Amino acid sequence: MPIRLHDSLSREPRELRPSQPDGVFRFYNCGPTVYAPAHIGNFRTFVVNDVLRRVLELEFGADKVRHVRNLTDVDDRTIGQSRKEQRPLADITRHWTGIFHEDCAALNLLKPHAEPTATGFIREQVNMIEVLMEKGHAYRAPDGSVYFRLNTFPDYGRLSRIQERELKVTNAVADADHKDSVSDFALWKAYKPEEDGTVQWPGPRTASAGRPGWHIECSAMSKALLGDTIDLHTGGVDLLFPHHENEIAQSECCNSVPFSRHWYHSEHLLVDGTTMSKSKGNYYTLRDLVAKGHEAMALRYALLMGHPRKQLNFTLDSLHAAASALRTLRSVRAAIPGAGGSVDVFAPVLAALQDDLNFPGALGALFATLKSATPADINAALFDRAMFALGLDLSAQAPVAAVPAEVTALAERRWAAKQAKDFKAADALRAEISAAGWTMLDRKDGWSLEPLRK
Ligand code: AMP
Ligand code: ZN
Repeated sequence: MPIRLHDSLSREPRELRPSQPDGVFRFYNCGPTVYAPAHIGNFRTFVVNDVLRRVLELEFGADKVRHVRNLTDVDDRTIGQSRKEQRPLADITRHWTGIFHEDCAALNLLKPHAEPTATGFIREQVNMIEVLMEKGHAYRAPDGSVYFRLNTFPDYGRLSRIQERELKVTNAVADADHKDSVSDFALWKAYKPEEDGTVQWPGPRTASAGRPGWHIECSAMSKALLGDTIDLHTGGVDLLFPHHENEIAQSECCNSVPFSRHWYHSEHLLVDGTTMSKSKGNYYTLRDLVAKGHEAMALRYALLMGHPRKQLNFTLDSLHAAASALRTLRSVRAAIPGAGGSVDVFAPVLAALQDDLNFPGALGALFATLKSATPADINAALFDRAMFALGLDLSAQAPVAAVPAEVTALAERRWAAKQAKDFKAADALRAEISAAGWTMLDRKDGWSLEPLRK
């Protein structure tokens, strides 16, 4: 059975298929802004995308899916945080990237094949802006910023069906005096020392030094890592407008080909029936829940309890229900003999997931099948495949280890030493980190900490 997924552009379910001759399905998921911990709402979106990735792998083969999820590490929010804390931007974003990776691992999210950072792709963003300027889709404003000229892209608004009048109202914010039209949006923001601290790069030709706008980042990273036309682009509903409209405008005007063949947006998580906010006291991160004694895998299960295209209401009661379902799955799994069972729980679970990611349908089918059979009849390998599809790790879970502040400080010092090519100091710091029971994992663009396994 093919995978059918709602397409936000055509507003109907459409089959997912790779379009390139290599048979690789190319999939871009807008990632987190790394200035604070991701909240459980953000993780709803990432869990939905993780199940989608798993279903794609089951359909096309693990080596035929290419999944990119970016990290937004330069924008108003990250810069604002860096100014507030008086710490370099890279320190802030590296710290929160590490935390994000630990949370992702605890929630059993598959790692994307590439996780580009906006600051790692400045050249590509500048190149795209230069093409847009040459083609007359973008212009330099008097302050040295560059704006996209919206009326050069007649298709604008097709995804979110935003009307021109609403657009003018929504976009008529700061900087309006530098733009030719209030509906134009920023591709490049000229450096303002009072706002940007020390964050700046050389700009597109004729523009001032500064930093890219938020939207161009995804257009440029998607092009660089997946090509001009991709198979699927996803995110939470709040990204439909303006982020994804702007991505489409930039990419299609630059590349002269359709940007994404399919768009998918999952709905928001509500907590206690309302949007999360710190002042209402209903704002949760994974760590908040773990500190209250909950298990990360129970949160994953709770996030699977609603249809991704409907708002989901999270309550601590729903988390208890999830934990109880997880206990049932663990005890069933423990009672399944090694081989021989003939009852297939995987096929009905997969069928529901292939049908527009029907999570409640998948969980319903799973429990209905389990109810109709005794553990001795259940096929162990197919049970495990069903757990893979849902991303439920039934092994007893270590709670997300909270990294002690002094270990994080050592890791930050070691990273700085490495950047300064002081490898002797870096090695000494690594030894200190190990002595404290942690291991530091280095990547090109950052690091994370994991407990040392004995
Ligand atoms: P951000 O870190 O704000 O850029 O958001 C990361 C992802 O989380 C985006 O795809 C958002 O659409 C999504 N998101 C933000 N708030 C929620 C929420 N309450 N429920 C589900 N997804 C959300
Ligand atoms: Zn994006």
